[in-house]
Amino acid sequence: MEPQSFKPASVAAQALGWIDEKTRAISPGIQPATTYLRDEDNQFRSGRVYARADNPTFDQPEALLNHLEHGAGAALFSSGMAAATSVFLALKPGDHVVAPKVMYWALRHWLTGYATEWGLKIDLVDASDSAAIARAVQPGRTKLVWIETPANPTWVITDIAVAAEIAHRAGAILAVDSTTASPVLTQSIALGADIVMHSATKYLNGHSDVIAGALVTAKDNAFWQRIKSVRKNGGAVLGTFEAWLLLRGMRTLFVRVPAACRGAQKIAEYFSGHDRIEGVLYPGLPSAPGHAIAAKQMSGGFGGMLSLRIKGGEAAAIGVAARTQLWKRATSLGGVESLIEHRASAEGANSPAPADMLRLSVGIEDADDLIADLEQALVAK
Ligand SMILES: *Cc1c(COP(=O)(O)O)cnc(C)c1O
Repeated sequence: MEPQSFKPASVAAQALGWIDEKTRAISPGIQPATTYLRDEDNQFRSGRVYARADNPTFDQPEALLNHLEHGAGAALFSSGMAAATSVFLALKPGDHVVAPKVMYWALRHWLTGYATEWGLKIDLVDASDSAAIARAVQPGRTKLVWIETPANPTWVITDIAVAAEIAHRAGAILAVDSTTASPVLTQSIALGADIVMHSATKYLNGHSDVIAGALVTAKDNAFWQRIKSVRKNGGAVLGTFEAWLLLRGMRTLFVRVPAACRGAQKIAEYFSGHDRIEGVLYPGLPSAPGHAIAAKQMSGGFGGMLSLRIKGGEAAAIGVAARTQLWKRATSLGGVESLIEHRASAEGANSPAPADMLRLSVGIEDADDLIADLEQALVAK
């Protein structure tokens, strides 16, 4: 199979069409060895020495993700947080970083706490406003601009191409947390990004049964090698079995993500103007502030994530979540099952989530069932 000649959905379904050479197996095996035999002359012609550095079970999922993101290299990590923090730890103490105020809360918490104590100089900005990013970068001093789009938990949009231009003009690189978009909807490297990050725990795996992360680079350069060294020497490597399971999940990515998008769009439209809903946060609504930019840089849908603001405030919102039956009250996102969560209480202090807001991760169930379940939960007392 020559992946370049097929559409991404075809390439993903067959995981690049790789066939196991020894067995002619259609699906890959798992190679759990931690160490590899040296040649008699003391060399490692296989190219592999020890599995913290080189794990053959990573090759296929990394190559597939790299293909889907148009990268020059990909690396799996033990979690999305391990992937993200490896980018920051590949910087040097004193380096200046611009990051969004609205972003995955645990990473924001780590940046303002640990990473700041470690020595990074971090400015958080409203990244839905390109001018705010431009004001925050310091030419020559800023090394990294980090964005997330659509951004947790209000799904605001950052213009990737404009952010890349701003970062590059200042001599910095642009990294994009593209977990919510997935490579199905957005290919950030084609838009100018230098690094793409995924919590593979979410859409890439898609079944809420693997914790994993991934990075893809636009260039195999010194910074990428430094990131790889953080993974190898910091030891943030994914388990072999998890890598295998992740590849299995990725094969259905192009069926799951469009299904989640269709459900989310239908739910967002249905609840817009609903008499018990204060507001719907979803970039697929023409009224959403970032809709035009989202339409430009996302294709095939606006993601499976949306948030609903419930009339009656925090207690009413928590009450609605309490009464859902099909929607499961749980954190996380990107799985085949729909999840609902009151984010303000989950995130605690400094959360950008309004108190009356429920975050919804739309799975692949029937959208009418999901709507009916929310309706009964909104109406019941
Ligand atoms: C879940 C998530 C992360 C962190 O990933 P883990 O796999 O949980 O470590 C980072 N960014 C986004 C947008 C996420 O949803």
